Amino acid sequence: MVPVAANIETVKAKIAAAAREAGRAPSSVRLVAVTKTQPDAAVTEALAAGQRLFGENRVQEAMARWQDRRAAFADIELHLIGPLQTNKVKEAVALFDAIETVDRPKLAQALAAEMKKQGRAVRCFIQVNTGEEPQKSGVAPRDLPALLAACAECGLPVGGLMAVPPADDPPALHFALLKKLAARHGLAELSMGMSGDYEEAIALGATCVRVGTALFGARPPA
Ligand SMILES: *Cc1c(COP(=O)(O)O)cnc(C)c1O
Repeated sequence: MVPVAANIETVKAKIAAAAREAGRAPSSVRLVAVTKTQPDAAVTEALAAGQRLFGENRVQEAMARWQDRRAAFADIELHLIGPLQTNKVKEAVALFDAIETVDRPKLAQALAAEMKKQGRAVRCFIQVNTGEEPQKSGVAPRDLPALLAACAECGLPVGGLMAVPPADDPPALHFALLKKLAARHGLAELSMGMSGDYEEAIALGATCVRVGTALFGARPPA
């Protein structure tokens, strides 16, 4: 058994230390516990340990796992951290509190329309493909201004940027680029940093770190 509660304490302590080291308040960094593909018992244990902010990368899986739990715990907060297809926008707006992966005008428009229809405000982040990897989601840095303009035009509020750096690059370069882009566009939130590099991300300004393996152990193969 993975000691989930102890892992949460350890990671939180490291987050706080990294924030202080950077001259920031520990409360300025939020831990998004990434539960995708983890066994249900791990989720139950994290909830029992007081964790309330979670990340999932697939709408369908998140619905199955969280719809009932949301009714039981009013203060659960869910972030979508995986790619979103426009045909899942309705479900995503109904379930999630934040969508971190807005990466194209069509999706921004669909989200804005659906939020209006449901009368529900979901916080949105733009995912930036800082490494410009062809297989990865996210808008290319050079296309970010146009996407932000499209979001403004359709009335989609954007609170920040999110990135997943290339696996074989030093992540700090990508964190620094994301921070620079956010500053340039006056965006306050920076979702960056995972199990292997969240302390580095905090040093470079992360306000949300998305941590799975360090809390729940290795994910079972899909
Ligand atoms: C799975 C995932 C994470 C968590 O990664 P770990 O290395 O397990 O901490 C973070 N962000 C995104 C977008 C993910 O898909």
